[in-house]
Amino acid sequence: MSHTFRFDPMQFPPEAEALRQEIRSFLRAEIDAGTFTPGSGDMDSNFNPEFSRKIGAKGWIGLTWPKEYGGHGRSQIERYVLTEEFLAHGAPVRAHWVADRQSGPVLLKFGAESVKRKLIPEIVRGETYFCIGLSEPNSGSDLFAASTRAKKVDGGYKVTGTKIWTSNAHRTQYMIGLIRTSQPTEDNRRHGLTQFLIKMDTPGITVRPIINLAGHHDFNEVHFDDAFVPDEHVIGRPDEAWKQATDELAYERSGPDRWLETIFALNAGIRVSGPNPDDRTAETIGRDVAHLMTLRRMSASVAGMLQAGETPMTEAAVVKDLGTNWEQALPNRMRLIAPDGVRAPSPNDTAYEEVMRYATHIAPKLTIQGGTREVLRGIIARGLGLR
Ligand SMILES: Cc1cc2nc3c(=O)[nH]c(=O)nc-3n(C[C@H](O)[C@H](O)[C@H](O)COP(=O)(O)OP(=O)(O)OC[C@H]3O[C@@H](n4cnc5c(N)ncnc54)[C@H](O)[C@@H]3O)c2cc1C
Repeated sequence: MSHTFRFDPMQFPPEAEALRQEIRSFLRAEIDAGTFTPGSGDMDSNFNPEFSRKIGAKGWIGLTWPKEYGGHGRSQIERYVLTEEFLAHGAPVRAHWVADRQSGPVLLKFGAESVKRKLIPEIVRGETYFCIGLSEPNSGSDLFAASTRAKKVDGGYKVTGTKIWTSNAHRTQYMIGLIRTSQPTEDNRRHGLTQFLIKMDTPGITVRPIINLAGHHDFNEVHFDDAFVPDEHVIGRPDEAWKQATDELAYERSGPDRWLETIFALNAGIRVSGPNPDDRTAETIGRDVAHLMTLRRMSASVAGMLQAGETPMTEAAVVKDLGTNWEQALPNRMRLIAPDGVRAPSPNDTAYEEVMRYATHIAPKLTIQGGTREVLRGIIARGLGLR
């Protein structure tokens, strides 16, 4: 392992820039048609199956996946551009996001052939959505402490236990869950966990809401009481999910998702500052834009490495750590440039104050979801050979 990290410059190839223009024209037309309002950042309206089906019809889900399963065989760099444009515009893409970013790739790599043939085309069409069943009441950062268990029965498994913080479990059709199938061994405490594809309408599954700080129903507790999962829905090798679950996290951590979640606050700040901001405001915005461009350059470099077939775990963790810290502090900085009560100039804009309140409420979660700040720094330290 190299004990350093690298962020090589990445040039966007012409086909990626062409895709960017195509997506921008599409999004501008959708905004003009009133499909969504950029800049509200609202989680509820961001889950929009109708919009996901439109994106699917455009060929923008499963962009990098093999054509034989209905994917589009394009590059990681084009996918990077697509992610950046959707998030920067605040497009309502949450319904298909997890399936596109991580569940589909996990199924393609480890799923049963029959499952891939059925589900991958449905995901690509923007019809089938996934949630992530990793965390439990006593197992968060330490995934290998998971205790939701599956007992072997004729033709499959019966699952019992509780998952927690499961985003969108109340509106997705499937979960990929990390479930205990046997006990850890003395020499490998990671042994004994299996990934399962779980249909959310299976008898024995109950989804209970948890209301978040912003007052939204976004995540849930999911209870399993002898819920049956067929053998065909085992993903990969029983008891050896630790390698696959780590793979899944690499997909989750490496993209613009990790520095663009509060970008709408910066856009609103620029808007209310107008074309001639005072020196202090201009300096604040200038610093933030400079940070943003640096993060973007690093994140694009990770996309370039993925395209080259590398697994840049340390670099992805650096981007997530720097990116989430930046986007977390951004709403506070934007609050300082415009006093409470300032309204956005256009009558169609969401009120500035409301945007900032929402951004401030979601900010604390940014350094927790997808791996906490401390855990990421542990990964970086290991990558640098410091532990
Ligand atoms: C908005 C949001 C959405 C989420 N969605 C999902 C989802 O869809 N599916 C899902 O499975 N989970 C989801 N999660 C859960 C998330 O993955 C966990 O909250 C996260 O992994 C941390 O686990 P925990 O909450 O149990 O905290 P803990 O692991 O108990 O950590 C508590 C504190 O201890 C620190 N800590 C823990 N271990 C170490 C260590 N080894 N070294 C140093 N410090 C350490 C942590 O950094 C943290 O500060 C979501 C969380 C949020 C906030």
